Amino acid sequence: MEATLRGVGVSHGVAIGEVRHMGTAVLEPPAKQIPAEDAEREQGRARKAVEAVAADLIARGNLAGGEAQAVLEAQAMMAQDPELMADVDRRIAVGSTAERAVYDAFAAYRELLAGAGEYLAGRVADLDDVRNRIVARLLGVPMPGVPDSDEPYVLVARDLAPADTALLDPTLVLGFVTEEGGPTSHSAILARALGVPAVVALPGAGELAEGTVIAVDGSTGDIFVEPSEEKKAQLEAAAAERKAALAASTGPGATADGHKVPLLANVGGPADVPAAVEAGAEGVGLFRTEFLFLDDSKNAPSEEKQVEAYRQVLEAFPEGRVVVRVLDAGADKPLDFLTPGDEPNPALGVRGLRTLLDHPEVLRTQLTALAKAAEGLPVYLEVMAPMVADRTDAKAFADACRAAGLQAKFGAMVEIPSAALRARSILQEVEFLSLGTNDLAQYTFAADRQVGAVSRLQDPWQPALLDLVALSAEAAKAEGKSCGVCGEAASDPLLACVLTGLGVTSLSMGAASIPYVRATLAKYTLAQCERAAAAARAADSADEARNAAQAVLSGE
Ligand code: PEP
Ligand code: MG
Repeated sequence: MEATLRGVGVSHGVAIGEVRHMGTAVLEPPAKQIPAEDAEREQGRARKAVEAVAADLIARGNLAGGEAQAVLEAQAMMAQDPELMADVDRRIAVGSTAERAVYDAFAAYRELLAGAGEYLAGRVADLDDVRNRIVARLLGVPMPGVPDSDEPYVLVARDLAPADTALLDPTLVLGFVTEEGGPTSHSAILARALGVPAVVALPGAGELAEGTVIAVDGSTGDIFVEPSEEKKAQLEAAAAERKAALAASTGPGATADGHKVPLLANVGGPADVPAAVEAGAEGVGLFRTEFLFLDDSKNAPSEEKQVEAYRQVLEAFPEGRVVVRVLDAGADKPLDFLTPGDEPNPALGVRGLRTLLDHPEVLRTQLTALAKAAEGLPVYLEVMAPMVADRTDAKAFADACRAAGLQAKFGAMVEIPSAALRARSILQEVEFLSLGTNDLAQYTFAADRQVGAVSRLQDPWQPALLDLVALSAEAAKAEGKSCGVCGEAASDPLLACVLTGLGVTSLSMGAASIPYVRATLAKYTLAQCERAAAAARAADSADEARNAAQAVLSGE
């Protein structure tokens, strides 16, 4: 009997295959006492295992490149945290084995993180993964992670650690399903980067029996358990139709009646550029520069290092548009040397532009590096600040850009409801807006983007979020300026049509989503998009908004 489950679709496409669960068993080593003379040897074993795991994470990062690399390098740093290592040494000195000491030290640190607020709690999955890797190495058992299989399968997990998603082989992993995570979690972002269909926040995913055949629809979030032959054929036909439409769609983004909507790529650094070029991105709509800052926990990267990275991205889009976001540190992207460690509520504390205004030397170096990187290139450089709350913030950022002699357009991200509500006032200081719908949803609904339990409220189809998008786009139009979307909302093809109908002027997304958005946008006229947008805004919930827009566009 075919059963249907519903999670949150975060990466398009259909995958049909057998369930294989991720090896996440927590290996609890026995608590036995060792004689004092063995302590030094055990401490040496622990250190060697930590170093090997950190080296393995860095090697995986080098292989994966892009945003994945930065995440894996951050995990390697976690493994080598000096305080954690000191705790391991102390535990061994009083009689623990190396594996038990690692297990207990990580458990203590985990408690600290989990109790320290939700943004830190979001890093617990990464920490557990690091611990499991070190303990497995010490016990000489296989590493937890992706199952060993020669046959393609659908990967099911509680949550996917970056170390695993980064190296998923798309020829073997047909798709993935997770119990935790939201549409804007980094697992979802990485899934889209890999081009693997994925559904997250599926309650009970862990109970799907190993070997059961399931069909995953990454566009709708539907999971069909033991699908009938008829259902499989129907899903496969729909997927084939979508693939054919994709192959036929090339060129700049536009509606069926030729209203241009540039389709841009979100990148984390030079490693993401080839995929963006291959997908036909018309430029970069969001260059997340913080990934450059994750290499060193104590210092910002040198001006030279920044010039080099920025230039590589700028050179890839000669005469294209490249929107660089200055450092967005804090909350879900903490940086040890900049982010205060004692805030009760880091997402509401000193983060984004606030951090940079507290550390003007970091902003100055970044802006100077950007000015040097763009020198002599025909590229259209645009520079924007994250987390702009009001006109005072926008002015401070524009002043800093001018002081650095930057020849570029200056813009503000709209990620805080106040910025959408007073967009016209902000536009007195800057030349464009870019909607960061991930954070805008987080702050509109008071729903932490890293917490699976509140993913309903992180759904970018929420009519309240659409209202704020509309307000921003209308303000930009009234000021004769542009207003793009660079949050994950832009990567949903149907929502991309609605955003266009709301007056958004460009859409920026992970490269893998560009062909889907281009193909869907090309099917509808601007007037149809506007009608779909009005229908979505008139709804009372995200699901109703999605259905209403779908009904308008399919002519129901
Ligand atoms: C956003 O918040 O929508 C955004 C694009 O920025 P980030 O996801 O990097 O916070
Ligand atoms: Mg953001």
